[in-house]
Amino acid sequence: MDRWSSGRVGLLGDAAFSSSPLSGQGTGLALVGAYLLAGELATAEWDPQVGFAGYERRMRSFVEANQEIGRWHARSLDVHGPDAAPSPDQWPVDLIDRAINGVELPDYAGAPDSGLPAGP
Ligand SMILES: Cc1cc2nc3c(=O)[nH]c(=O)nc-3n(C[C@H](O)[C@H](O)[C@H](O)COP(=O)(O)OP(=O)(O)OC[C@H]3O[C@@H](n4cnc5c(N)ncnc54)[C@H](O)[C@@H]3O)c2cc1C
Repeated sequence: MDRWSSGRVGLLGDAAFSSSPLSGQGTGLALVGAYLLAGELATAEWDPQVGFAGYERRMRSFVEANQEIGRWHARSLDVHGPDAAPSPDQWPVDLIDRAINGVELPDYAGAPDSGLPAGP
């Protein structure tokens, strides 16, 4: 999706950036996204516009690298026989590295909580 929020509505996980069976990582993206969304909202003192923008800024290139893995995988299967499949030395190592490690997880310790009373 071009953007993952509108007004006070923000999307996360598959609803925002569902990955493909050919890329995997859907659970990891959802969990990393949840951590960043909560942290960015908290450090923005719960201003949705600022928090959503920070979440998307930190997360988007990581998501795009993972989605690109799915496209690369699909292309790699579109070959004329098993011998034509890319060998490991043809794998896009930089892209794989960005899909695994390409996101910074700040330490949000000390960020203000939402101020909502804890549930029962
Ligand atoms: C067959 C299959 C295999 C997969 N294998 C892998 C894998 O090996 N590794 C991997 O990383 N990812 C895998 N995935 C992807 C992964 O499951 C998803 O990317 C991940 O679960 C997304 O998490 P989410 O919280 O965004 O959505 P979900 O896990 O789908 O959670 C959404 C929740 O919202 C609930 N819900 C829906 N509508 C409402 C409503 N109106 N009110 C209240 N609740 C509602 C649903 O019941 C659901 O519990 C697989 C997916 C499938 C389908």
